[in-house]
Amino acid sequence: MAQQRARVDAVIVGLGWAGSLMAEELTRAGLTVVALERGAWRDTTTDFPPAVDTDELRWSTRRGMLQPQAVETLTFRNRPDQGALPLRDWNCFQFGWNVGGAGTHWNGMTWRFKPYDFQPHTLTRRRYGDKKLADGLQVQDWGVSYDDLEPFYDRFERLAGTSGKAGNIQGQAQPGGNPFEGPRQRDYPLPPLQRTRACDLFDAGAAKLGLHSFPVPAGNTSGAYVNPLGVHMAPCTYCGYCEFFGCGNWSKSSPQACILPALKRRPNFSVLTQSEVLKVNLAADKKTATGVTFIDAAGRLWEQPADIVVISAYQMDNVRLMLLSGIGKPYDRASGTGVVGRNYAYQTISGASVFFEDEHLNPFIGAGALAQAVDDYNSDNFDHTHHDFIGGANMLIHSTNGRPIGMGGAVPPGTPRWGSDWKKAYRDSYQNSNSVYCQGTSYGHRDVYLDLDPTYTDRHGMPLLRVTFDWNENDARMAHFIADRAVEMGHAMGAKVVSRFEPTAKAFSPMDQLSSHTTGGAVMGADPTTSALNPYLQSWDVHNVFVAGASCFANNGGCNPTGTVAATTLWAAHAIKEQYLKNPGPLVKA
Ligand SMILES: Cc1cc2nc3c(=O)[nH]c(=O)nc-3n(C[C@H](O)[C@H](O)[C@H](O)COP(=O)(O)OP(=O)(O)OC[C@H]3O[C@@H](n4cnc5c(N)ncnc54)[C@H](O)[C@@H]3O)c2cc1C
Ligand code: SF4
Repeated sequence: MAQQRARVDAVIVGLGWAGSLMAEELTRAGLTVVALERGAWRDTTTDFPPAVDTDELRWSTRRGMLQPQAVETLTFRNRPDQGALPLRDWNCFQFGWNVGGAGTHWNGMTWRFKPYDFQPHTLTRRRYGDKKLADGLQVQDWGVSYDDLEPFYDRFERLAGTSGKAGNIQGQAQPGGNPFEGPRQRDYPLPPLQRTRACDLFDAGAAKLGLHSFPVPAGNTSGAYVNPLGVHMAPCTYCGYCEFFGCGNWSKSSPQACILPALKRRPNFSVLTQSEVLKVNLAADKKTATGVTFIDAAGRLWEQPADIVVISAYQMDNVRLMLLSGIGKPYDRASGTGVVGRNYAYQTISGASVFFEDEHLNPFIGAGALAQAVDDYNSDNFDHTHHDFIGGANMLIHSTNGRPIGMGGAVPPGTPRWGSDWKKAYRDSYQNSNSVYCQGTSYGHRDVYLDLDPTYTDRHGMPLLRVTFDWNENDARMAHFIADRAVEMGHAMGAKVVSRFEPTAKAFSPMDQLSSHTTGGAVMGADPTTSALNPYLQSWDVHNVFVAGASCFANNGGCNPTGTVAATTLWAAHAIKEQYLKNPGPLVKA
């Protein structure tokens, strides 16, 4: 029998970026909010040394900050006719946990999706006609436009202290920025990070090919900064121990550095750590949530009653909690009906490793998001009339770390994997290598989905989430085209050896370390037959449940997701404050 806690206005499930941004908005509006986080408390001053913590084996190789599989894992299969098996290692799937979630140890690339990415169905048909989409693709609009989200992207960049260079301010092109970005109201709050030799080589290659190079927007501070919540951040030291590490320098945008210092001071906010939500409780009519049931570290069950339930437990667990709680109709691949689990997407990755001669790239000088990119082949930024795919990818060079273990595989093709020849090659390539890395779009497909595993369960005996995924034809064709462009770029940069990589040319394996960017499964949209959430991230079926995170993306964009996770969360929070609280009920008629 669960023990009862006092009722609150809102309960938030999971305290990463999405949960802490939602908590900040709702507590500022005066609501009492309790956040339930299944991991432990974790903060800048208590957990990260102020000098650089160089334990690469612990944090990066062994993924010390990621959620242990014993807490929860996924089962995986490529095709619906296969059996799925549980994953025992985190490679492409990387679950954050503890307070701050993956926002603690992310890199900080803080992109906005392109206007096209929110309306791929409408805009593809308008430009190319009805026959452009490959068989089985489930391309659909998000029910929200880039212009709707622009003020919320802007708010996040200010909260996070993003360093970058605008390319388009209110329709006016800005030299040195990304000419393909949607119009923004103003520049980033901080100028771009310092440049490296790798950036210079990339710029030279881009200029030779007539492409438009710009600095990637970074959640690593290029200077001292005070955010709108009054939180002070210090300049990044380019320590190179950023991805998979916490930042003790108050330089990486994270819930800890940017939001929690303000949130902790608010009397109407509280957080219970090591408290795992098992399900959202529904009233008898199944149209209203009454709160959540959670289990604490001592194994005791609790009920937390609340007027509003926000699920912000990361893309995968958002979908799993909806399925475990009976919120929304599960996607059924055979009939093509149902919405929860539909339009799961991963990110297409392709590119080229580049090896120079007599360079000194000094890879140990780096920051999580220090990179130079081109967007000429992303999204619908180029004419697809004569291509057999839609979408595209950004292409970038990354000066992020020169860590000795992680760089060990960056040797030219044909090098032995151990022994004196490997050592010699690694000694040479350490200063001479990098890669042209391309993160691409991915669209929903009828054979790709998430559901509850019929066999395997977690430590509480509840079904694990099952992932059914393989690259679809559109992904593979697009990534092939992009890998060709990356090879061209490598040669234009003057590399002596250019080695193409194209993981989409074979079946997807969850053991490959490609990207951590998973999206969809509880997507937003204007049509309740193809989306689990309305355009305000509100469940179509249970009006006081809002679901925040990349689960709401109807498709993945050709860049990192968190800027868009933040913008959609802040947009939904605005709707809760301005509309829902005045008149609780569905914000959009089904
Ligand atoms: C190594 C790495 C590098 C990355 N780099 C970038 C980058 O450069 N740019 C970018 O845009 N994105 C990047 N990402 C992705 C980015 O970190 C995520 O998009 C973002 O952190 C997601 O935020 P979230 O709040 O949705 O989820 P999370 O940060 O995962 O937070 C969810 C929280 O919910 C908790 N939780 C889960 N289930 C329950 C439950 N049942 N009960 C209670 N609590 C629960 C979890 O413990 C977790 O703390 C990176 C990710 C990784 C792993
Ligand atoms: S690179 Fe900069 S932001 Fe990243 S951990 Fe080091 S000091 Fe912090």
